Amino acid sequence: MKKAILLAMAAVFTSISAFAAHPTTAISDTTKTKKVKPVVKPATVQYTCPMHPEVLSDKPGKCPKCGMELVKKEPAKKKS
Ligand SMILES: [Zn+2]
Repeated sequence: MKKAILLAMAAVFTSISAFAAHPTTAISDTTKTKKVKPVVKPATVQYTCPMHPEVLSDKPGKCPKCGMELVKKEPAKKKS
């Protein structure tokens, strides 16, 4: 009879450790999926003149119209 109890305990222990191991994997998996966002590369940065929005350049420089330093044009951000 004692053997049966030992066997039962061993079975319980095995299932517990198996059960304990699985959620850990699942949790770290979920965390990874949630934390790691797809690497979003900023869209081609454009430079524009603060005074002349129609002036666009893909590299820093000066506005051909007024000579002002072109500033980075931030991609439109959605605000909730
Ligand atoms: Zn300008």
